[in-house]
Amino acid sequence: MINVTKSYLPDLAEYTRLLEGVWERVHLTNDGPLVRQLEEQMRAYLGVRNLRFCTNGTIVMQIALKAMGITGEVITTPFSYCATTNVLLWEGCTPVFADIRADDFTIDADLIEPLVTERTQAILATHVYGNACQIEQIEAIAHKHNLKVIYDGAHAFGAEYNGRSLLSYGDASTCSFHATKVFHTVEGGCLITPDDDDELATTVQHYRTFGHKFDEYYSMGINAKNSELHAAMGLCVLPKVDELIAARQATSERYDSQLDFSRLQRPTLTTGMTRYNYAYYPVVFASEQALLNTVEALNAQGIAPRRYFYPSLNTLSFLTNAEACPISEDIARRVLCLPLYPGLPDEDVDRICQLVNEAIVEVGV
Ligand SMILES: *Cc1c(COP(=O)(O)O)cnc(C)c1O
Repeated sequence: MINVTKSYLPDLAEYTRLLEGVWERVHLTNDGPLVRQLEEQMRAYLGVRNLRFCTNGTIVMQIALKAMGITGEVITTPFSYCATTNVLLWEGCTPVFADIRADDFTIDADLIEPLVTERTQAILATHVYGNACQIEQIEAIAHKHNLKVIYDGAHAFGAEYNGRSLLSYGDASTCSFHATKVFHTVEGGCLITPDDDDELATTVQHYRTFGHKFDEYYSMGINAKNSELHAAMGLCVLPKVDELIAARQATSERYDSQLDFSRLQRPTLTTGMTRYNYAYYPVVFASEQALLNTVEALNAQGIAPRRYFYPSLNTLSFLTNAEACPISEDIARRVLCLPLYPGLPDEDVDRICQLVNEAIVEVGV
């Protein structure tokens, strides 16, 4: 069975060595030494000052919204994982969908401004597949209308825009360290806030730990602390992340050299991306039928690609009156992520390319 992804597991002896320290200290959670060490190492790796390690990449978006007092309309992307929309609903905000760009599938900045009303408070955009949104345009609109910008950077670990971590932009950026992501801690995530805003960083820190400030309850916090066991995994995976990205790049380039691009589209990389992390390998088919035919051919050989992102979030059944987003709806129906992970054998990549190329020819255009 070849899945769309396979989690990287570090050397077990190395992980066990870190666990031995946990057993000695009997300090399992609540800002333990491994959590603090991982936070320091991530800050150094990403070049950011204010970063908090949390339980997942979903609750960090909720904390960002809560910490900035966002309760009204939020202009957001329909082309993301469902968490991006769900956090808005959980926080009592109203998602307002702006369609995406046909070339890189990030939110179309030109469509944001016409959607701004007096109730709009923020923009929540996703760096799709680890590729940057139109950062300058989004920030200019936010500045003009006094809106906050939150980036769902769940895919963006290790990616750089204009020489800086992609996670260092916006009023807040979030990342997911779920087992399927480029860098992982089994479950986990982080919230990054601007270097020059210690007040926001302090609010985030309180919100992460029930609002505790010594024995006082400073604010209505929640529990988003992560544990020493998760931090230990992160400490083992982080030193390997550059190697893991290089392996993803090699596999991506192998796909690039063999797939039939007369019948497939690939999202473009935003100008200004000084480092890409090869988080996924999405291909867009000429039709949904071509995609379905390919999925069937791959499944028959024990290969499981994933329709990601699908469906377009503005069509989620529990939303009412969501805006139509024809480009996102169209791309979501035709996009498929092919297997991509460090250790995926070249022969398997070659076989997948052959199966895809055959399946799309069979359907025609
Ligand atoms: C994975 C993912 C999330 C959710 O992260 P979790 O850590 O699983 O909560 C949110 N947004 C996007 C775009 C994702 O891919």
